[in-house]
Amino acid sequence: MREIKKNARAVLCAVLVMFIALGGYFFYAVYNYGSRWFTTPYNTRLRAAKKTVIAGDILDRNGAVLVTSDADGERVYPTDRDTRKAVSHVIGDANAQVPTGAETFLAADLLGFNANIFDRAAQIFQQKRKGSDVTLTIDAALQTYIAEVFPDENDGAVAVINYETGEVLALYSSPEYDAKHPENFEDLEQDNGVLLNRATQGRYAPGSIFKIVTLACALENIPGVTERTFTCEGTYQIDEENRLTDTDGEGHGTITLKEAFTKSCNIAFGQLAMELGEDKLRATAEKMGFNGNFLFDDLIVYESLFPREIPDAGELAWTGVGQGRLTAVPLHMAMIAGAVGNGGWMVEPQLVMTVSDSAGGVKNSLNTKNYLQCFSPQNAAILEEYMLATVAEGTGARAAVEGHSIAGKTGTAQVNSSGGRYSPHAWYVGYCAEEEHPYAIAVVVENGGSGGSVAGRLAGKIMKKAIDIVE
Ligand SMILES: [Zn+2]
Repeated sequence: MREIKKNARAVLCAVLVMFIALGGYFFYAVYNYGSRWFTTPYNTRLRAAKKTVIAGDILDRNGAVLVTSDADGERVYPTDRDTRKAVSHVIGDANAQVPTGAETFLAADLLGFNANIFDRAAQIFQQKRKGSDVTLTIDAALQTYIAEVFPDENDGAVAVINYETGEVLALYSSPEYDAKHPENFEDLEQDNGVLLNRATQGRYAPGSIFKIVTLACALENIPGVTERTFTCEGTYQIDEENRLTDTDGEGHGTITLKEAFTKSCNIAFGQLAMELGEDKLRATAEKMGFNGNFLFDDLIVYESLFPREIPDAGELAWTGVGQGRLTAVPLHMAMIAGAVGNGGWMVEPQLVMTVSDSAGGVKNSLNTKNYLQCFSPQNAAILEEYMLATVAEGTGARAAVEGHSIAGKTGTAQVNSSGGRYSPHAWYVGYCAEEEHPYAIAVVVENGGSGGSVAGRLAGKIMKKAIDIVE
């Protein structure tokens, strides 16, 4: 009997512990994922609210109205067609078919769920409630310019942020869609993921922009590595089956670490990756948010992925130069480049500037938060020196903006394909190293060819525009 009592008590204790753990998880989950659950297209309360509330306006950082509602609550797009299409992925659509867009992810504000009690009380006497207006950090003119200069024949993405405040200045995804014509969305989606925001959800092979991570890892783990020289003959036999190759096979000769970075030498960086090993490389990548789980307040961003396991030396070497099974998300890569410019700190991206309720109350939503310390200040300074040299005299020369201090790294990512021949993805990430213009950028042009000449050139134009017009 005593034995049974003892067992019963043990079981009761176990159940209690599990109950508390579950309850704890519930609060944890609601706290962390609450806004994400709230804004899913499956939330019936939200769908019902759309019938009784007139959604607020969405404006850009300069006050340009991108979306408003007519008297019946139908969404109206007052901008011209080019602007409407350029900002399409940031805005989303009224029917939540683009669930990462502001229309859906910021629905709690737009439908006035977050408005204060006085505002809501005042609205009881009105026929239809009015939601709050949301001013985004996006610069619609910059984004429309990006759409204009982005190559028509390629898909891809561009992200521009203020790396000190986290303000997202542009999030462009090509191909675009037209929110005014949702009737053809189904065809579009089947086409090639038109409704996907490639800037925040696109996962691409990074190619040589990943050398920023390998370099940071070497600076952290190999004392005196900046004094090393490497011998590059264009190819390097890793083992019987695997070898490293440079893009142009002639070889860089004897080079310093800095030259290996500015000239984007695969041989040097593949060898560094093998010396460091996968655990150290993964640890450095994860410090920058690879394999993380981004739960930002204002927007949904997929994290970049570093493989859980690297099977052999060949793949390890290729991972160090940005190939293998790595994937990178454009906005995340802009945040990493920005962290170099910000003394090592990555800030959380912010998409919402202010929320204005219908009673005239304005809530400032800009709330700069340090998110991850990616680099020590000393290593950030070395990375900056190397990235400045890459634009001044290396593969990033075409990203230069006259009269300004630009740092960057190019990437030409080979695309694995079964049998087909595809041009590589062209990448560029970088930033303006000036206090007055703390802008970071990532550009990826799918199957665009050379990172330096295609993505770098594009990034230079866009950075110049950002410097000229963003206030
Ligand atoms: Zn080389």
